[in-house]
Amino acid sequence: MSNAALRLDTYEQHTPQFSYRPRSPRNTGYHKLVADNYEELEGVWDSIYQRMYGYWRPHVLDVIYKYLDCGDPHLGFARVKCNDCNTEYLLPFSCKCRGFCPSCHQRRVVEFGEYLHDEVLEDVPHRQYVFTIPKRLRPYFMHNRKLLAKLSLCAWEVLSDYLKTSVSASVNDDNIKPAAAIAVQTFGELLNFNSHLHVIAADGCFNENGDFLLGISPNADDLTEPFANAVLKMLKKEKLINLAVINNMSTWQHSGFNVHCSSSVNFSDTEAIERLARYIVRAPISQERMKYIPEANSSDGEGKVIYEGKTTGRFETFSALDFLARLVTHIPNKYEQTVRYYGYYSNKSRGVRAKAEANDATVEISSESTNISSCSDHSATCPNQGDISVAQPQTPAQAEDLTIKIPISLSRKRFKKNWSRLIQKIYNVDPLKCPNCGGKMRIIAFIEEETVIRKILTHLNKWLPQYHDPPDHLGNYNMPASLNVDTIPSLNETLENTQLNMFSERTYEWWESNNKLNSSITCQNVKSYTHQKDITTYLTEDEYQHPFEDEFSQEVFYED
Ligand SMILES: [Zn+2]
Ligand SMILES: [Zn+2]
Repeated sequence: MSNAALRLDTYEQHTPQFSYRPRSPRNTGYHKLVADNYEELEGVWDSIYQRMYGYWRPHVLDVIYKYLDCGDPHLGFARVKCNDCNTEYLLPFSCKCRGFCPSCHQRRVVEFGEYLHDEVLEDVPHRQYVFTIPKRLRPYFMHNRKLLAKLSLCAWEVLSDYLKTSVSASVNDDNIKPAAAIAVQTFGELLNFNSHLHVIAADGCFNENGDFLLGISPNADDLTEPFANAVLKMLKKEKLINLAVINNMSTWQHSGFNVHCSSSVNFSDTEAIERLARYIVRAPISQERMKYIPEANSSDGEGKVIYEGKTTGRFETFSALDFLARLVTHIPNKYEQTVRYYGYYSNKSRGVRAKAEANDATVEISSESTNISSCSDHSATCPNQGDISVAQPQTPAQAEDLTIKIPISLSRKRFKKNWSRLIQKIYNVDPLKCPNCGGKMRIIAFIEEETVIRKILTHLNKWLPQYHDPPDHLGNYNMPASLNVDTIPSLNETLENTQLNMFSERTYEWWESNNKLNSSITCQNVKSYTHQKDITTYLTEDEYQHPFEDEFSQEVFYED
């Protein structure tokens, strides 16, 4: 391979208008802010921030480490090559962290928009509701994030009753179901902790046959008081507030509870629905509205962040540490659900409908298979050969297999996740269009082996040994080409006892993770970790086992 054929940063020398430039996250102010300050933040958390924001969550550090490595070619990359002119570039892996990595979060946001429109919502009018709570009550949700699920349920119960009533005047049916997706957001305009809910709900209810009954136009003010009562009751039940607090709050002129609803959007307006969906799961931080001033450039020697509020346009200046401290309060816990589906859109209801559809599909295919099975010649010349494996289940096991496969191939809405198409949606450019000749590019390999990564990057003069080589002082510990999991304890011990201080923590972390040595990865899941990792995947088996815990955070394997 020659330097001319294989480029990394030089990619932008080509016409960027119609091509995708692999991003350089390390050059952003946001990345610098995190890299410069996270260690100090962790160090001073207990003394400065714990009182305000609660205990330091170890998960925060995991996310920060992953984010700092996101897009780092030293950790692996895909090789993307043009079919026509052989131009090639390297695309580093992404961290997939939600709520913190702006780039990865944004990709999920776009994906969620499509998912909601294509897989969840029915072809009926919808609208957005926003449920907010008083400042006085927000800290409870910051210190106990599990309460956010209960907050979501409060909103659902109130809205559900309301929507049922809005159609029941014309219908006498106890089994009607409203339908909604509710997203929890924890951030306010200047990243203050402001737990609130964004709801996308159908403008009526579904009956048992799946027919939609349009409700009357909602008046959000009618929802405020029932919502306030539901939340106060819930917090009292949790023993967080008592009757005295409730009585006191009821004397306030403005309760601080608020429900807002926007105008109705037709399902056929795909762009509007997807925009709405993207909005309800958007990232807490906007890099465009943030300016980081590092210590060295700051007049008083303290790192600063100037941040502009989205709606008011108000600027606020923070110390870098204060800003980062605010920011990390919005990182969801590891398997924390941020979007929930209720009523006709609940996972259960959708599952029942999907199963019914699959059964219908099985009947159709089975009747087709009768025709095909009349062909007794299954040789390569048989025109039906390609269908036989699915069309002729002969044993119960094969029949079982058939019913599993069909729902995927006959999916009602055919939701298709596609990395290049999603990037196009975000940046309006096609990452798989050749910057040189405009031809179609494709991913030809995923490079994950440390030795190969090093070889390629060294060849390109992109290997940065100061960050990525284990120190020379390891003496006898030359890094083995492939590490046996059994060697972990002795290796770790040696590092801890003698050499750890020679590592920067970051280097150690990198070295650990790059060699699949992370202590959270057990022997058993090292294999899965390696296999599941693709261009946008950086998972442990634990994460892989919970792909549908949160539809918004579901793991997606982009492929082309
Ligand atoms: Zn080309
Ligand atoms: Zn990322």
